[in-house]
Amino acid sequence: MAQKVIGLIGGMSWESSAEYYRIINERVRDRLGGLASARCLMWSFDFSEIEALQAAGRWDEAATLMIDAARRLERGGADFLLICTNTMHRMADAVAASVAIPLLHIADPTAERVRAAGLTRVGLLGTAFTMEQDFYKGRLAARHGLDVLVPEAADRALVHRVIYEELVQGRAEPASRQAYREVIARLVARGAEAIILGCTEIMLLVGPQDSAVPLFDTTALHAQAAVDLALA
Ligand code: GLU
Repeated sequence: MAQKVIGLIGGMSWESSAEYYRIINERVRDRLGGLASARCLMWSFDFSEIEALQAAGRWDEAATLMIDAARRLERGGADFLLICTNTMHRMADAVAASVAIPLLHIADPTAERVRAAGLTRVGLLGTAFTMEQDFYKGRLAARHGLDVLVPEAADRALVHRVIYEELVQGRAEPASRQAYREVIARLVARGAEAIILGCTEIMLLVGPQDSAVPLFDTTALHAQAAVDLALA
């Protein structure tokens, strides 16, 4: 059986793209056995360019770059696409409309797993863009019926700062892990039954031991869903 070719729009940051690559290959090995590994292509951005556009709110220019990446992967033979960051799903619809191959949206496999666990009230951690704008929370609510809680303003600022100043630069600091534990605990105290790690680097900092409720890691769930689609 020929695997479909997974097209990964990555480099946002490469720290999490490396995790995608590892998880995708591990799952193909686990499912097919032997020496099997994934058929995939990755376009990896220079994240400094993307971050500058995000910080300036120049989302149209960022979308142009994302569409260019999607078309490169389609021309290269990808059968479907993943955007390997939650934040850049802000332009997921525009990216999907720019190519003939499907886009596997990161929120969907994540929300499906939350629902399958019988949970509906989730705390969301991610960049300020993901926590504050509607493109991500809105999809979780409208398509999947989830009730989404985000941290209070000071906690959102902390979560965002740690992502850009530490995690995308490959640093996992014990003090930041403790701070994230406290943010998670405050969401749980407000009623969160689960926490969505809605930024693809957060899994580099926190794990199940840091939370009293189940964590749903978008990196792993998105990567696993890609393999399931590639082997379907
Ligand atoms: N990887 C992160 C995310 O999942 C943040 C980096 C970015 O802004 O793309 O949102």
